[in-house]
Amino acid sequence: MTARITHWINGKDWDGVAERTGEVYDPATGEVRAHVDFAGPSEIEAAVASAKEAFAKWRDTSLTARQRVLFAFRRLLDERKQELAEIITSEHGKVIGDALGEIARGIESVDFACGIPAMLKGGFSENVSTNVDVYSLRQPLGVVGVISPFNFPAMVPLWFIPGALACGNAVVLKPSEKDPSAANFVARLWREAGLPDGLLTVLHGDKVAVDGLLTHDDVKAISFVGSTPVARYIYSTGTANGKRVQALGGAKNHMVVLPDANLDQAADAAVSAGFGSAGERCMAVSVVVAVDPVGDELVDKIVERAKKLRVGDGRRAGCEMGPLVTKQHRDKVASYIDAGVQAGATLALDGRGHDIDGEPGGFWLGPTVFDHVEPDMSIYTDEIFGPVLSVVRAHSYPEAVSLINANDYGNGTAIFTNDGGAARRFQHEVEVGMVGVNVPIPVPVGYYSFGGWKNSLFGDTHAYGPDAMHFFTRTKVVTSRWLDPSHGGVDLGFPKND
Ligand code: NAD
Repeated sequence: MTARITHWINGKDWDGVAERTGEVYDPATGEVRAHVDFAGPSEIEAAVASAKEAFAKWRDTSLTARQRVLFAFRRLLDERKQELAEIITSEHGKVIGDALGEIARGIESVDFACGIPAMLKGGFSENVSTNVDVYSLRQPLGVVGVISPFNFPAMVPLWFIPGALACGNAVVLKPSEKDPSAANFVARLWREAGLPDGLLTVLHGDKVAVDGLLTHDDVKAISFVGSTPVARYIYSTGTANGKRVQALGGAKNHMVVLPDANLDQAADAAVSAGFGSAGERCMAVSVVVAVDPVGDELVDKIVERAKKLRVGDGRRAGCEMGPLVTKQHRDKVASYIDAGVQAGATLALDGRGHDIDGEPGGFWLGPTVFDHVEPDMSIYTDEIFGPVLSVVRAHSYPEAVSLINANDYGNGTAIFTNDGGAARRFQHEVEVGMVGVNVPIPVPVGYYSFGGWKNSLFGDTHAYGPDAMHFFTRTKVVTSRWLDPSHGGVDLGFPKND
């Protein structure tokens, strides 16, 4: 008997019988560790109805009371992070240290939301007309849906939940069906922190659950993170159904190395950002653009480091890179190695032969490096989302920037150089939402917002930070007159201020 993972609705585990379920693997052993219930119409209805009911009270709950829950949740999350990290590793596969890293980033987003009273201040203009004042309020939207990907089962939900709740909304979270347990753990912590039942629902499932949220009249907004084709679908369907939508998509992040860069530092960065979390990060570096003449030396340094990475069960001490999330995904990523060789790229390191510190049934693939990759090869055009790093050679800085700007994705990018002028020019010219200067994974801190450009984000608001306060509220502007009883009698003219 494997464990059952079910929905969290109205502050408790759902007690119905699921018509459909999905298998959840331990990627380091290849075994099925649990089955997760997939929501159908009745679970979707129950989830949204309880959220709507809870919202009616929460929107009138004071900022101070909301803030108290946020502080309590922050404390609990910090206290229980080791347990949560172990859950993440057992279903996602990333090493424990990396799982703790994603929780730390999630905590940053809670930190920001704890300052909610300061951020929900409106504007006030006294005497815009004689004895007339104008002021603005920010009010919550209602029930909002959060749909998250497998690669950050704790952090991505935490990008949205604290801000949405702080602003007075109720949240229905549809986590990835591949690693669903972290969401239930987090939901229980919110309850323990004092969040009233119904305000955070976890609805498990697949496209049926997602479509149920996208078309439900009582769901007012959708925050989505996942692959580009699904992000595009979420944006078009959600907006067609009258919802506010932010849909963050996939990526192909380029790291430019200029000839004046410190090549040891650049190689360390490329290996860390290319193979951390087995390349299953939307901010992973998947393309290194080596500007002449540094290519040969840089590739040697990258291969030398990547070869030494300890790949294995993320629970074992010393392992730096875990397995891929499912066998299907592992096989798909491995198929790109064949495709790269067939297309004529140079296979500088083949991850299929890497030593593994783990059970043979795990979904393993070691770090792979391709050199002399051309922009028309599938290993360049496609988001592989695995430990496959491509090196493209460029003759000059302008050629490197043109390559990035011609790419359909625009999530993250980085430049490695000792030339401040070149770095400044790069940050100005590059058409990408998040830029690193000698920093390979430029994920903004919690008090900025996170988002890419082009096919990496549909919608106009980024995730967490100040943009969250904008996305999860709507503005109301009040024009009021109290003191002046002599309002001038009937006047059918358009109101003017004097
Ligand atoms: P995915 O698009 O397959 O799934 C994301 C979510 O959408 C899941 O909850 C899934 O159940 C649901 N879903 C999947 N197919 C659907 C469909 N046809 N209709 C409706 N819902 C559907 O993504 P994933 O494989 O879980 O995650 C990896 C992807 O997410 C990568 O492309 C990665 O770049 C991207 N990602 C982007 C960011 C970002 O901030 N831009 C962050 C993390 C991950």
